[in-house]
Amino acid sequence: MHNFLKQDIQFLPGVGPVRGDILRKEIGIHTFEDLLYYFPYRYVDKSKFYKVNETHPDLPYIQIRGTIRNYTTIGGGRKKRLVAAFGDDSGTIELIWFKGTKWIPENFPPGKEVVVFGKPSVYNRKINLVHPEIEDPAKVKKVSSSLQAVYSTTEKMKDNYLPSKAISKLQSNLIHILPSAFSETLPSWLLKKLKLVTLDTALKQIHFPDSVNDQKRAELRLKFEELFYIQLNILQKRTIRKTEYSGNKFPHVGEHLNAFYREKLPFELTDAQKRVMKEIRADLGSGKQMNRLLQGDVGSGKTLVALMSMLIALDNKFQACLMAPTEILAKQHYASINKFLDGLNINVELLTGSTKNADRQRIHTTLSDNSLHILIGTHALLEDVVQFDNLGLVIIDEQHRFGVAQRAKLWKKSKVLPHILVMTATPIPRTLSMTLYGDLDISVIDELPPGRKPIITKHFFDNQRLRVFGFIREEIRKGRQVYIVYPLIRESEKMDYKDLEDGLESIARAFPPPEYAISVVHGRMKPEEKEIAMNHFVAGRTHIMVATTVIEVGVDVPNATTMVIESAERFGLSQLHQLRGRVGRGADQSYCILMSGYKLSEEGRRRLETMVSTNDGFEIAEVDLKLRGPGNLEGTQQSGVPFNLRIAHLGKDQQILTLARDVAEKILEEDPGLQLEKNHIFARHIRKGSPNAVNWGDIS
Ligand code: ADP
Ligand code: MG
Repeated sequence: MHNFLKQDIQFLPGVGPVRGDILRKEIGIHTFEDLLYYFPYRYVDKSKFYKVNETHPDLPYIQIRGTIRNYTTIGGGRKKRLVAAFGDDSGTIELIWFKGTKWIPENFPPGKEVVVFGKPSVYNRKINLVHPEIEDPAKVKKVSSSLQAVYSTTEKMKDNYLPSKAISKLQSNLIHILPSAFSETLPSWLLKKLKLVTLDTALKQIHFPDSVNDQKRAELRLKFEELFYIQLNILQKRTIRKTEYSGNKFPHVGEHLNAFYREKLPFELTDAQKRVMKEIRADLGSGKQMNRLLQGDVGSGKTLVALMSMLIALDNKFQACLMAPTEILAKQHYASINKFLDGLNINVELLTGSTKNADRQRIHTTLSDNSLHILIGTHALLEDVVQFDNLGLVIIDEQHRFGVAQRAKLWKKSKVLPHILVMTATPIPRTLSMTLYGDLDISVIDELPPGRKPIITKHFFDNQRLRVFGFIREEIRKGRQVYIVYPLIRESEKMDYKDLEDGLESIARAFPPPEYAISVVHGRMKPEEKEIAMNHFVAGRTHIMVATTVIEVGVDVPNATTMVIESAERFGLSQLHQLRGRVGRGADQSYCILMSGYKLSEEGRRRLETMVSTNDGFEIAEVDLKLRGPGNLEGTQQSGVPFNLRIAHLGKDQQILTLARDVAEKILEEDPGLQLEKNHIFARHIRKGSPNAVNWGDIS
């Protein structure tokens, strides 16, 4: 069976060398197995006509015969849409079009019988079909087969006679010659318990379902398996880490932390900060290595938590380091930590790419004789020459900029594994962080320090720019500073640069010197030039910072109260949220202004609406996940367990994910080594690897 599935795809009847080559190059299908696990992305059912009262959001693309009762046009401008009340003798639903709003009523007047073909969905708790195909019943052919799978294909495939239908034919050829006994990947006790169908059935039914119900059950089984093995793998690694890796024990909370707390801390900790400190202290005192992710929205006070954790390390005679993704950020951390620690007799140094040689020498020496307590820096910390005497705690800020390999380098810098605290301001829904960061423990700061005024976010169209400029002038008159950010998308750096240049021209005209001073930072500048421009703005010498997204992460200018984001529709949600987090850091009311053109995609519109309606990073992350799936979420490579989802969708399948997690947890609780007879299949499957789960080869 195993060998059968590993055969080269070109030897499958109907393929041959030419198509084999196309399948390999276009969609990465090399073997029989790859094809079998190339799942349809949707199904159509043209074998029957559904009744209006049979429609349900779980159905695939279906056809209904009926009449249009009336048309209404709702909304104006970018929200304009055509809504038709459509019905048969069983009821009425809505049909919605955003395009073709003229053509459709002209060709299909109310009262005339039509056939519509589309996917039922739910909006405002009502069932509707969005952008259905609409036809004259006389022109609709009836097809005999039932649900038909639709596979995604590329232009090149279509040009070479490999459209979806051809893939379906190849699947059928393959299924016909499959050996009868499939090696099952889940034990029968689990299949029975969860009422899942066998792998054999699932694979056949996913490609050639007998009914909607069979298709659903096949999908559930395959999704569960995919998510389950990811969870099992992550949880097992985590169990091993927890039981086998010892860590330095930090039993004391001593003079440094106490002195800081009593004499230096200028405010009360938030409840969330207190809770997180408790969690971290428990880890540090446990004798096991801490591996913790600290999530908190921008401005929630993560740096302070980092600092206090480092002080605990110091109290136990260990050194600590903090690594930031950019030089500017490292400097800011250095400055604010120095300020907090002023007069406490703790040695702190900054190490970045531009640290002078003499300073480097001093840092290396004091690091190795333990007279340097805290080292803050950039990737420069990873260099081999940087050797600590006694590194006890590593803090990594904004970790999505660091790869797993880089983290691993830090681990090697001390005799015993140092404790690790990773901080991120990219909030991630719980279900997702369970998967992405499954081998880390998670702490969340879900509360902002008191007295912050929530940022007010507004959306304007490009033609309202003069109003926005007026607003900016008003803020500057009050003594505040303003960011204006342009998108930078690598594929078309030239064009983006042009956007920035054009924008800059009009900004320069609207805000002329000597009254106004402008800083510019973009990707084409040398690092030193960027640095100088940034520093002008940080020091308050310029009023406006015009930038591409290089300022996305971490810069702290409390006096900057307004963030204008140009072409906001071109940014992802998490990026918009990060950018907005650059303001609202001081006591003054802050604003985020999203500029966009009139033409917005459905998704673009949702993103802007979400930004206007909430400041909550977790809520935004949920929407983001639903809109585009986790594939593009920053930090997807952070789990330490690379995975490739073929059928499950982390955004849409959160319930299955939770189930998979719970089941995996229970199994490992009872049998951490997967040694019981009834669990052998798991152990075998993890070792052997599975095409539909995780790329085990890349691990560890
Ligand atoms: P983050 O790193 O999570 O974005 P910071 O640690 O930079 O947030 O904190 C943002 C600002 O809030 C800093 O100026 C910090 O001194 C301040 N701050 C942190 N914790 C508190 C608190 N408990 N009360 C008041 N201000 C706080
Ligand atoms: Mg920060």
